[in-house]
Amino acid sequence: MYSISKKITISKQASVIKSSFINDEIGQSAEVKFTCCNCRLENKVEITPYETGFPIFQIYNEDEVLSKNELLRNGIVSETFQNLLHFGELTVNNLPTLYFGTNCQFCGSKYICVFSYGEKQPGLTLLTISGVWKYEEIES
Ligand SMILES: [Zn+2]
Repeated sequence: MYSISKKITISKQASVIKSSFINDEIGQSAEVKFTCCNCRLENKVEITPYETGFPIFQIYNEDEVLSKNELLRNGIVSETFQNLLHFGELTVNNLPTLYFGTNCQFCGSKYICVFSYGEKQPGLTLLTISGVWKYEEIES
């Protein structure tokens, strides 16, 4: 898992086996499985709350990696409710939203995974995987 700092374009969305985890399902970490769009093999990544990922803000800040429009157009994030803007302008499920880059362990295709984690309401902790998208770096 790594952070992304170069400009990228989103190509395809990979299919994720299970994208929503609630309370005890999360435990120490949640295992996310996705199918590579290129080689069709299944990859596994572990998301550990408060350890995994980088703030999604780093992606759209000054359109450095992807523009806000691009993020919204691909359904990666949504605009945050006005009363929850402390979680950031763009979020998944109006909860703190993070991302990480990962490569297919079989063919090396590059992917970005976006997820949110937090307490939706007292007693309900949610981990939501918005999705895993194949991306390409833009040569500058
Ligand atoms: Zn692959």
